[in-house]
Amino acid sequence: MNTCIFCKIIEGKAPAKIVYESDQVVAFHDIHPKAPVHILIVPRKHIPRIADLEPEDHGIMGEVIGAAKAVAEQFGVGDGFRLVVNNGAIAGQSVFHIHFHLLAGRCLGWPPG
Ligand code: AMP
Repeated sequence: MNTCIFCKIIEGKAPAKIVYESDQVVAFHDIHPKAPVHILIVPRKHIPRIADLEPEDHGIMGEVIGAAKAVAEQFGVGDGFRLVVNNGAIAGQSVFHIHFHLLAGRCLGWPPG
């Protein structure tokens, strides 16, 4: 049984505030936002980590980046946003279904913590 929370959101079996959907990508509000705009952009395909990508998945990841651009424009932050991917628990990954955090709406320090 698939217990992945992001798969459940994608399948409509768990609640989320969805802001974007395409054939290959879904985007929704992060439940614990770290910025005024904090959207998660996820491929529909369950791939646990960037480190698990196969060459056939590279096109999907292009779709994810394209969706990030569309979401940034949708929220009026196309001129200033950050995309973050945590790969592995040591890097802070807590949901093992690839997702890009789109963060915007405040000053974003560098380097990230
Ligand atoms: P990461 O720690 O990089 O794996 O990011 C996982 C993100 O998913 C965190 O920012 C969580 O707040 C967020 N999150 C976890 N569960 C949900 C959920 N059910 N709906 C929306 N966001 C979630």
